Amino acid sequence: MQNPDIIIIGGGLGGLTAGARLAKAGRKVLLFEQHSVPGGCATTFRRQGFLVEAGLHELDGLDATDLKTTIFRELDVFDKIQFVRLPEFYRVVTSTTDLVVPDDSAAAIEVFVKAFPAEEKGIRTFFKTIHALRDEVDRLPLNRNIMKLLYPVFPMLFPKLALHNQRTLGEFIDGIITDEELKLALVANYPYYHDDPYTLSLLYFSLAQSSYYRGGGHFIKGGSQRLSNHLADFIVEHGGEVMLNSKVTRIVVENGRAVGVAVRRRQDAEEAVFRAGTIVANAAVPLVVEMLPEPERGLLARRVAGMKPGIAWLSAYIGFRRDISSLNNRAYSTFFMGDGQASLKERALSNRSGFDQRGFAFVDYSRIDSGLGAEGKSFGVITTVDYIEDWEGLDEEAYRRKKDEVARMLVRRLEEFMPGISREIEYLELGTARTVRRFTGNPGGVATGYANVPGQSGTGRLGHRSPVPGLYFASAWAAPGGGFTGAILGGWMSAGEILSTKSGDMT
Ligand SMILES: Cc1cc2nc3c(=O)[nH]c(=O)nc-3n(C[C@H](O)[C@H](O)[C@H](O)COP(=O)(O)OP(=O)(O)OC[C@H]3O[C@@H](n4cnc5c(N)ncnc54)[C@H](O)[C@@H]3O)c2cc1C
Repeated sequence: MQNPDIIIIGGGLGGLTAGARLAKAGRKVLLFEQHSVPGGCATTFRRQGFLVEAGLHELDGLDATDLKTTIFRELDVFDKIQFVRLPEFYRVVTSTTDLVVPDDSAAAIEVFVKAFPAEEKGIRTFFKTIHALRDEVDRLPLNRNIMKLLYPVFPMLFPKLALHNQRTLGEFIDGIITDEELKLALVANYPYYHDDPYTLSLLYFSLAQSSYYRGGGHFIKGGSQRLSNHLADFIVEHGGEVMLNSKVTRIVVENGRAVGVAVRRRQDAEEAVFRAGTIVANAAVPLVVEMLPEPERGLLARRVAGMKPGIAWLSAYIGFRRDISSLNNRAYSTFFMGDGQASLKERALSNRSGFDQRGFAFVDYSRIDSGLGAEGKSFGVITTVDYIEDWEGLDEEAYRRKKDEVARMLVRRLEEFMPGISREIEYLELGTARTVRRFTGNPGGVATGYANVPGQSGTGRLGHRSPVPGLYFASAWAAPGGGFTGAILGGWMSAGEILSTKSGDMT
């Protein structure tokens, strides 16, 4: 492409959404993706006849109040992609509790109150608070200048935000609930956001959780690669270009302003330089630091110094030789807590223990019309929190051996809850933090960007405008945060900020 207006580094959901919005607005978009397919974490791959979903378990919302609904309409997503509504929010199994939690607040309250009648007040406070936080965030003005004018009266207009903005989920739950079993059940899915409820931002948790209770959970029929492919096609249909197998090695800065990128394509020996008025980084922010020359490198490094990265996940991908819905599993997504996880604090600590102790979830795609798996067969995933340190320092052979051992151990643990399941396995493969790092470049295999902790969430989150003029962020590492929703909203908002810039970024 000659003279693009915008160059995007990375074709994950953040980069693709930003590119799609900018292309639709008439900007000439040129996107570089190092991998051979677009999507980053939002991808699928084929193994032994199975279509393996690399990441997506569930996507929240898609109701009338969800910004993604507007975004997907604007980008023709609903015309091309089918979203399958999940039958319930989740099932939680602890040593004494086994509950299926509906994805509707009133019905979920009923389930929790029936199981824990003495805690009704706390249960109601929980739901009231997460929804109130979401409502207040929805009312926040997007314009930063208007926001600044509101500062003196902020606590009056946004009382829940003023009260809870800096609190952790653990602190909040401890203040309203005493029964540890109930705490475990009420926030069973928190490892989808962070590894420790006592450092997880209550605000971030509430936004996501409230969205699930309003619009439910969804899967993309045929796998998340379909959404990624659609967004890449949309960019091309609107005059843009998506170049795969193309790794950006440097950001070119002139007179303090980002003006281009150097790219190494897989088939070319030489780097080529491409220039544009605006550069959007979807690649992880720590990688962007390395791409900049001095003094801009130091400028960005200082801006993100001390920020903590979020978490990675481990996935044991399982192809079943038949449809396992006959095994009477009661839910699509089940969180299991073993012995030694009798309290929320112990549950958090278990994440740092061995894979034989760590709390885990099983996602059973046979419960829905997922479009994965071969004819008459089905697909599932065991997932836990993962840390790159568990996989560092191993040569390829030792790494492969450890992956096999951990995969088999997790299946044995699942077998305790679902007798007979291991006999149905035809394909088993482990994806680790190291896998995610290898395919997406994310440091530590972290798929959520900077950790969703107070100070790094909400107004404390890294914005879309970098300290280097002409360089923007659109990824899980910047606002509003990680997950499919965070990356999609981040890409959309970043593009919005670029489109509203009057300072001549496009020139
Ligand atoms: C196992 C797993 C399960 C998950 N489950 C869920 C779930 O159920 N629900 C949910 O909402 N979220 C889930 N997520 C999280 C979600 O997928 C991510 O937070 C989100 O997709 C991140 O999108 P992104 O655009 O920020 O970045 P990424 O997906 O990381 O994409 C970044 C892209 O940039 C490219 N890139 C990097 N460096 C360069 C370079 N130098 N040049 C060119 N290209 C480059 C990479 O190749 C990659 O394609 C899961 C993630 C994983 C890994």
